[in-house]
Amino acid sequence: MLVVMRDLATQSEIQHVVEHVHEAGAETHLSQGEVKTVIGVVGEREIVYALDLEGFPGVQEVIRVLKPYKLVSRDFQGEDTVVTVGTASIGGGALGVVAGPCSVESADQMMRTAEAVKAAGATMLRGGAYKPRSSPYAFQGMGLEGLKLLREAGDAYGLPVVTEVLDVRDAEKVAEFADVLQVGARNMQNFMMLEELGRMKRPVLLKRGLSATIEEVLSAAEYVVKGGNRDVILCERGIRTFETYTRNTLDLAAVAALKTLTHLPVIVDPSHATGRRELVAPMSRAGIVAGADGIMVEVHPDPERARCDGPQSLDFEQFATLMDGVRPLAVMEGKRLS
Ligand code: PEP
Ligand code: MN
Repeated sequence: MLVVMRDLATQSEIQHVVEHVHEAGAETHLSQGEVKTVIGVVGEREIVYALDLEGFPGVQEVIRVLKPYKLVSRDFQGEDTVVTVGTASIGGGALGVVAGPCSVESADQMMRTAEAVKAAGATMLRGGAYKPRSSPYAFQGMGLEGLKLLREAGDAYGLPVVTEVLDVRDAEKVAEFADVLQVGARNMQNFMMLEELGRMKRPVLLKRGLSATIEEVLSAAEYVVKGGNRDVILCERGIRTFETYTRNTLDLAAVAALKTLTHLPVIVDPSHATGRRELVAPMSRAGIVAGADGIMVEVHPDPERARCDGPQSLDFEQFATLMDGVRPLAVMEGKRLS
């Protein structure tokens, strides 16, 4: 339920509502603009619906939200959320470019990649240390050693780093090294993990599940935000369809739709969405024109020798060319590379 306060409602009026809600046993989350405050009330439906807040001083309107997600919705917060990580921002006009290999393989690979993607204009470095592989016999990632190499490369070139938390038991350890915690497509509905990340102080990059609906993506994000962590970046990475030519089907309509439904930043991952190197640049551009707040692209010094996802990885030159194509479109969309 959303309690919309009158313009310039006083702090004591706001506090009065908040205290009443807490006494009844529900939670509050505040969205405070210059003039408008919206109090998001969440909790057991019976408790929330029994609250009779319409007549409270300073209350303009009480909206009962029927959707399963509330705090991530545009109704709760009209302005875009901007997620800031060190020097990089995503959302609210800031375009984020996350680039790097599928998996961390060596110090040399990470250092060279960080240098190249930074020079081409990337704002964050990616690299998986714990890899979710379909086959248990495929390379599973370097683990802790990989986290260290990713951190070192990011620090050497002033790039914040993004990496996946594959298991909730690793969350604390990954957070020691990473600036942004990625939830992979296969974990999008790992609710225990989402709740844990909601309690942590690191931004979360939440990838859309392989067959998750838009409502399910937003409900997953709600778990994190409800826990107190408002820094969530959504990522469209393609969904399973009957098409097999591409690895997945990039759902650009979902990007445009998400931008209307939520204030959270939305980025596009054209690498996992297509699985094909030659499609990564055009789909990056398409994502930006669809309204995405950024892209996440797999880049490797020698894609043919990559231990994971080589066929969809770009070499340094290809990534620089991609960025040349992205820049004018970012300007056209009123976005700045930060
Ligand atoms: C990744 O980005 O490293 C990854 C494994 O992607 P996804 O979870 O979208 O498959
Ligand atoms: Mn990959």
